[in-house]
Amino acid sequence: MNLAVPYHLENFIGGHFIAPLSGQFTDNINPATGQVYGQIPESNDKDIQAAVKAAKKAFPEWSTTPAEKKFEILNRIADLIDQHLDELALAETIDNGKPLWLSKRMDIPRASSNFRFFATAIMHFSNESHAMEDKAVNYTLRQPVGIVGCISPWNLPLYLFTWKIAPALAAGNCVIAKPSEVTPVTAFLLGKICKEAGLPDGVLNIVHGTGPVCGEAIVKHPEIKAISFTGSTRAGERIASVAAPMFKKLSLELGGKNPALIFADCDWEKMMKETVRSSFSNQGQICLCSSRILVEKSVYEKFKHEFVEKVKQLTVGDPLEEKTKQGAVVSQLHFNKVMGCIEKAKEEGGQVLCGGHAVHPEGACSGGYFIQPTVIENLGPACITNQEEIFGPVVTLQPFESEAEALQLANATHYGLAATLWTQDISRAHRISAQLQSGIVWVNCWLVRDLRTPFGGVKNSGVGREGGWEALRFFTEQKNVCIQL
Ligand code: NAD
Repeated sequence: MNLAVPYHLENFIGGHFIAPLSGQFTDNINPATGQVYGQIPESNDKDIQAAVKAAKKAFPEWSTTPAEKKFEILNRIADLIDQHLDELALAETIDNGKPLWLSKRMDIPRASSNFRFFATAIMHFSNESHAMEDKAVNYTLRQPVGIVGCISPWNLPLYLFTWKIAPALAAGNCVIAKPSEVTPVTAFLLGKICKEAGLPDGVLNIVHGTGPVCGEAIVKHPEIKAISFTGSTRAGERIASVAAPMFKKLSLELGGKNPALIFADCDWEKMMKETVRSSFSNQGQICLCSSRILVEKSVYEKFKHEFVEKVKQLTVGDPLEEKTKQGAVVSQLHFNKVMGCIEKAKEEGGQVLCGGHAVHPEGACSGGYFIQPTVIENLGPACITNQEEIFGPVVTLQPFESEAEALQLANATHYGLAATLWTQDISRAHRISAQLQSGIVWVNCWLVRDLRTPFGGVKNSGVGREGGWEALRFFTEQKNVCIQL
């Protein structure tokens, strides 16, 4: 199989690679160089209509395909992803700007794990039965929803794209999927892999284009019965407003403003190492990254000093080099947004302890979008910097005096995705975990992922849960059958 990336990407509809019906393309830019290196289809409602037609044709057979057969095909997809790790990782890094070692160790292996996990899960997914003594017996069928839409963001391109597609396919649905228009390449390559793996034509259709045109055409299409979306809270709100009156099933995984709560009694070395990682991994562009670091007052100065020293050592530069810890942020637009947030923080009275500037590496990456990892203090919980998601290499530090104050600060935003808690006091860990307004709490660790666990947020961080049975439940409809004895 040839996984070379063509200059013009194409949609994958009904098992064929085809140009967008509009004939229009837009530039694909390598964020590490600022150079155009490809063209992305600008698809619209007509392409989505073609994809729905292909999915409808494929649905009767795929929805009744035995679990063993789906298991085989999804596992073959996982194997092919593994076999092409190097090509996929390079494609992801060029498209996104993240360090190549990160694409190799995290993004692409996780994409194959997603397929392998749901290939196996569907073999164990079972229906419920409720017997009414001598009166009747109920059994609850879980049937595929039908044609479903999967829309994903640019920060973990193939990782999150497959996190939605794998359970949707395993549950017997046909899928219309749209990757972010900012990072479309590995999604395009996935089409090739699925074809090679023997996924029947039309079962997965991958359409490229912008959110407002192509994404919204998916959300609006009356024959697409469920939407699984990961992205910004702003786009999630728009999608909910379109899909809710159509009574579509909705799973919304949205933004975050995640706190890290650090108590003086924590395992200091481990906390320090992991807090640097949780703040700046993937240039801070992971929805689960800590962005508000709350530190017990008695150790605040010690933390600040050591943390800033460690952050200053993170090498920013060419994502292809092994020594690079911080690659480029994803686009010029995002670069401008993050730099604007740093300026805003200064206007609000924030003191920049390190970073705060763009980086201009020498050579091929001189035109890329690089930002120094930035640490800011002296800002209260209500300011914009501590309220709005920045989604870049920027964190703030705030001191707290008591457990109650730590909780108050942690819960003082509209978001509620993930929180990290550092303490050796087991009672405190339980107490605080229960009171954090957050879908996910990591105690003395960060980003330890078990794919069986429910994944998602509360408040403006989303609706619904992904992962394990939750995902298979989302992508199926229940039907209760009651048989009188
Ligand atoms: P985004 O909302 O701009 O775009 C996400 C996807 O939605 C893209 O494919 C985009 O084309 C599409 N889209 C945008 N508007 C749309 C519309 N009106 N209708 C249909 N589709 C539309 O987000 P982004 O900038 O790509 O990603 C960053 C955001 O994603 C951050 O807010 C981050 O926190 C969030 N995120 C959340 C999670 C999570 O699991 N909760 C994971 C990763 C990223």
